[in-house]
Amino acid sequence: MIQRPRLPVEVEAGVAVWFDEPMALHTSLGVGGPAERYAVAENLGQLRELLDYARENGMSCLVIGSGTNLLVADGGVRGLVVENRLSGMACRIAEDGISLEVGSGAQLSEVARYAVRRGWAGLEWAVDLPGTVGGAVVGNAGAFGGYCADVVVAATVLQPGGGLARFGSEQLGFGYRTSGFKGWQKGGIRPVITQVELSLCQGDVALLEHRAWEYTVRRRARQPEEPSAGSVFKRTAHHPAGYLIERAGLKGYRVGDAQISPRHANFIVNLGRARAADVKALIDLARARVRERFGLELELEIELVGEW
Ligand SMILES: Cc1cc2nc3c(=O)[nH]c(=O)nc-3n(C[C@H](O)[C@H](O)[C@H](O)COP(=O)(O)OP(=O)(O)OC[C@H]3O[C@@H](n4cnc5c(N)ncnc54)[C@H](O)[C@@H]3O)c2cc1C
Repeated sequence: MIQRPRLPVEVEAGVAVWFDEPMALHTSLGVGGPAERYAVAENLGQLRELLDYARENGMSCLVIGSGTNLLVADGGVRGLVVENRLSGMACRIAEDGISLEVGSGAQLSEVARYAVRRGWAGLEWAVDLPGTVGGAVVGNAGAFGGYCADVVVAATVLQPGGGLARFGSEQLGFGYRTSGFKGWQKGGIRPVITQVELSLCQGDVALLEHRAWEYTVRRRARQPEEPSAGSVFKRTAHHPAGYLIERAGLKGYRVGDAQISPRHANFIVNLGRARAADVKALIDLARARVRERFGLELELEIELVGEW
């Protein structure tokens, strides 16, 4: 169990800022060294203050959601890491469908379950998807044939200068497990998604609940239970990455406490005390073996952050 170091807490703009906060506590994989500074934004005002604080102190700022798609280096993260917990939801029900305006720090799975219970179709694939709505937009998360891009109408974004702007779906640069946010870097502070408008349609509660249940069963059957960051690599043009890694003979292969899951070869799991370097060694090995054996280049789906 990682203990939070007993260090003084600086309070900036009414928000506690922790020094040397272990990122292993804030990622689903449970690895990663300390963030130089770490804070939680519960609302737009706090988020604004924290971004100003980073800018005024010449620090880079990384905004994360639930850390379910991240591999943080053992060397930690320089500057400020902000955990986004902007919540809230407003619904508009019209004849042609349902519009949901959701805080970007809300858990997508909770929004999806709420929609299913009301018979609103479009998010059933997300009932067990870990992470926030903001994180899902950035990576165009998806499962079972559904994609975030299919339901996102627009995103409201806090820009590095402090202004809010609304971008329509077509401006968000969605692609397979990516969006324009991934490459959008300006002065060390990326634009932050604050709200997302989703469009759903009327459906049948029993049917949607059944579909959601099927997805839950399928996910439980094929995904490992140990801590992970989900799929490590994107699918290649013709094959799932897990199939290629398994054919390369790496299923179950272990470096330290990191392991290519014996259940699903595209998941790297933490068996207890894995370090980021162990996970990275497995990533490099899987890439090299798949390249040698099939002449294919595996592209990362998870994001490496921090001091590598
Ligand atoms: C067990 C497991 C199963 C998974 N299954 C799937 C799956 O089926 N399909 C799938 O697509 N993914 C899956 N994932 C990956 C993960 O759930 C998604 O990528 C999720 O959308 C990430 O959300 P997050 O809030 O955790 O983002 P984080 O991991 O915290 O961040 C991801 C990226 O988004 C950025 N970001 C986060 N919030 C904001 C914001 N508000 N504004 C700007 N940038 C932001 C971060 O800086 C980072 O670059 C799985 C993960 C796990 C652990």
